[in-house]
Amino acid sequence: MNTSEITSLPPFSNHPYFDFTDAEVKRRMQQTLAEVENKLGLEYDLVIGGRRVKTAEKILSINPANPSQVVGRHQMAEAEHADDAMTAALKAFESWSRTTVAERVEFVLRVSRLLESRYMELCAWLTFEAGKNWAEADADVGECIDFLEFYAREALRLDQAETPIKFPGERNQLRYVPLGVGAVIPPWNFPLAIMAGMTMAAVVTGNTVILKPSVDSPTIAAIFFSILEEAGLPDGVVNFCPGAGPGFGRAIVAHPQTRFVAFTGSKAVGLEIHESAAVTRPGQRFIKRTILELGGKDAIIVAEDCDLDAAVEGVAVSAFGFNGQKCSACSRVIVEDSIYDVFCDRLRERVATIQQGPAVENFYAGALINQIAVDRVMKYIEIGKGEGRLLLGGDKIESETNGYYVAPTIFADVAPTARIAQEEIFGPVLAVIRAKSFIQALEIANNTEYGLTGAVYSKSPERLELASREFQVGNLYLNRKCTGAMVGAHPFGGFNMSGTDSKAGGADYLLLFTQAKSIAERL
Ligand code: NAD
Repeated sequence: MNTSEITSLPPFSNHPYFDFTDAEVKRRMQQTLAEVENKLGLEYDLVIGGRRVKTAEKILSINPANPSQVVGRHQMAEAEHADDAMTAALKAFESWSRTTVAERVEFVLRVSRLLESRYMELCAWLTFEAGKNWAEADADVGECIDFLEFYAREALRLDQAETPIKFPGERNQLRYVPLGVGAVIPPWNFPLAIMAGMTMAAVVTGNTVILKPSVDSPTIAAIFFSILEEAGLPDGVVNFCPGAGPGFGRAIVAHPQTRFVAFTGSKAVGLEIHESAAVTRPGQRFIKRTILELGGKDAIIVAEDCDLDAAVEGVAVSAFGFNGQKCSACSRVIVEDSIYDVFCDRLRERVATIQQGPAVENFYAGALINQIAVDRVMKYIEIGKGEGRLLLGGDKIESETNGYYVAPTIFADVAPTARIAQEEIFGPVLAVIRAKSFIQALEIANNTEYGLTGAVYSKSPERLELASREFQVGNLYLNRKCTGAMVGAHPFGGFNMSGTDSKAGGADYLLLFTQAKSIAERL
């Protein structure tokens, strides 16, 4: 690919999805899953400055539907590896920060093509490691490619930036230059798209990265890293360091030479990172930047004038798609009084049809990610029994393979201030809240510390406009589900405790990974 091909890229468009109801597509997916199953259990190394490193302690990544099945064996980066990783990333920064935008874009596009060539295989890995059903895995891989293609184009656009005006008698330039070494710390739940999106946003803008994937999903990150190497990644531009949050994660955030932290995960960890990054440590010569995308307590408002079929369907898939393990998942549905009872009946009927079983067999609801998640969800179900009326579910589901299953659970008659209406559960638990009016529904929706996604089902343009003004969330959806943000169309990031509103997949995102140098030359 030469420079003119890069600068004449076709406009960005979202990656299409597979149709798994097509017999041939289904057969190919089953075959790919069988092929990937034969590769489970391989060992992967840390890669620091191109050097492969083994550690005494290992991370075992498992299939949540069958915890005895090891998906990958990984080294465990510890705090003591932070200095090595930083040295390698700083060294690589010297040359990577001086490459042209065109060179970096070319690299990102090469990675994108390689991902495309292994698309279904990546879906299969996500199914084994994260418990994603086929469509969820497809969405993760598609979003990953979308991020790369979008950020490649955005980097070129940013490179053409100009000052708002030209001062008479001067030549004015504005150059967006890289920051330095970034710690990239992704969650396990979009272990390809978010991990790769944050990493490549940093890389395409000329930074170097210390990548610490989640201990629950290091294998898909290792495969992504191997694709970076295949695409010609220079040593040290990305350093692959899976490790525990409290160990390596904390150490790399605190490192005095970490220039920025790109984090997606829970509120608690995000706030800890924010606090740690605010401390100026000996030898530190800059104010660290944090890009934090955190949790949610996302609400859907169902107005009395809605299309009830659409509302029931939208709530069911928003709440129970991938078992509610999405930051955007609906965990509160706020229903106007006059349709409350009929909505509850219809929702219970719909959610009762959800089938649970192994993601590999493409059941709609697979296993939760791990035992900790099961314990957390069951704890909230117990709390919910004292806070609402159990409408459906409420139980752990046993399986022959000891998978981490919890039944889709709905509580009705929940008070807006109840714990299950305020705290992020991050599992298949939905609170139904009654509202006397649409105005009250909006007040209830806004009454949490979060502000990530929300949706409204109503046929009234006035109500939709009111919600557009008053519903305080980063991503608002009208008459559609509140999950499934598309790169470019729905720049993604939340208000309040849901993060720094960094808007992944939006036109402002790459700015967060750069600083602007203004240059004025007297003519
Ligand atoms: P988590 O906060 O437990 O972990 C996220 C990452 O942080 C992991 O890599 C983890 O190892 C690391 N980590 C943990 N403790 C750390 C520490 N003290 N210092 C540095 N790093 C540390 O979150 P999770 O369980 O992986 O993901 C689920 C959470 O992520 C949910 O709250 C969900 O809402 C949120 N999420 C948000 C978005 C968004 O775009 N806003 C997207 C996906 C997930």
